[in-house]
Amino acid sequence: MPLYDFQCQSCGRVFEVRASIKQREDLKPECPVCHSHDTEALITAGLVILNKPSGAAIAPSGCGCGSNSGSGCCG
Ligand SMILES: [Zn+2]
Repeated sequence: MPLYDFQCQSCGRVFEVRASIKQREDLKPECPVCHSHDTEALITAGLVILNKPSGAAIAPSGCGCGSNSGSGCCG
């Protein structure tokens, strides 16, 4: 089974937990330092999602009138 990085939200400690992909979804491992279960899975390096600048947000296709029926612009 792969290793996943978790970070304790209580003390900030990052630690590794061995779990299956299925288990990882709702896994709340215990922090080895403060024994808190308030832990969060960290996204691994291969799955980093970059935040796009808000200025380049997703724009509606076409004229943006809300009509997307394929008839073109609302004008
Ligand atoms: Zn902790």
